[in-house]
Amino acid sequence: MKRIATGFFLIVTVLQVWAQPAQKPLPIIDMHLHAIPYNDQGPPPTTIGAPYRDWSALDPKQGGGMGYMNQLLKSSTMCENCLTSAPSDDALRNQTLSLMKKYNIIGVTSGPMSYVQRWQKEAPDRIIPGVLFTLGDPQLTLDSMRHYFKTGAVKVFGELCLQYQGIALSDSVVEPYLALAEEYDIPVSIHIGTGPPGVAYFGASAYRARLHSAFTAEEAMIRHPKLRVAIAHAGWPLLDDLLATLYTHPQAYVDLGVICYILPRKEFYAYLKRIMDAGFGKRVMFGSDQMVWPQAIEVGIKAIEEATFLSPAQKRDIFYNNAARFLRLKASSK
Ligand SMILES: [Zn+2]
Repeated sequence: MKRIATGFFLIVTVLQVWAQPAQKPLPIIDMHLHAIPYNDQGPPPTTIGAPYRDWSALDPKQGGGMGYMNQLLKSSTMCENCLTSAPSDDALRNQTLSLMKKYNIIGVTSGPMSYVQRWQKEAPDRIIPGVLFTLGDPQLTLDSMRHYFKTGAVKVFGELCLQYQGIALSDSVVEPYLALAEEYDIPVSIHIGTGPPGVAYFGASAYRARLHSAFTAEEAMIRHPKLRVAIAHAGWPLLDDLLATLYTHPQAYVDLGVICYILPRKEFYAYLKRIMDAGFGKRVMFGSDQMVWPQAIEVGIKAIEEATFLSPAQKRDIFYNNAARFLRLKASSK
């Protein structure tokens, strides 16, 4: 009897251990998530390198800029590891939300307002609503933005995708919107850096390399000193411009959106390491910029986790603490 009882006890103990919910991983704030249509990056399925092996050259005879887009998003020739886009809006949302649950992620999420609201409805605790903003969008007039800021429908003004329009954050046309964000104390996320290579030839004819510079945000920050500014994509690859900007403007942060998974890993690490070594580790925030490829979130998280030059405390800052401070959320995470 005793032996049976012991055996039973052991089984019960094992069952109890199994029955316990898996421990939640430490929280992550993804500063750069998108809730967008699944065909946003061209006719699906599309592929993206995570990372790309290299940025191969294009012979302009091969279909001009469109040829490069096909090489980039429609074939695996440049990928070291290729991700395939989600096959429908529902799949994109479900796959992204289930990865957010798995990694305990809260995401600053931008897209068309109808998409952001749909995702937020599905996962109100995980979605901090942003807005994908271009100037001249009839849905996003100054009056609509005032309404969104006032009602809390938009908590982060961005991602501002002005670089694709050939516009810098400091240009005068952006002024009334920045004044509004400052009035409502809404932090700004501005795309500075990596659009798809070659995009000036296949989708955004005003896109310019010189707008990769973080200097393009400088006058806007001077004019609106109360504005919190997140430089998306960390202004890659203009590192010196970025470091000078962070040094001069202590309210500026960066996110690692897209560069954490598309860049050859060696380059991503070299870039991030310089930012850290220069002393800006308290202003680097994780961001995936998964677009239509949910698995990019996992690749991006791994890139940070596997970085041997980062201490556990620095990783926690990047994954959570810095963004929590930037967003003025309450709790921090050790
Ligand atoms: Zn961007």
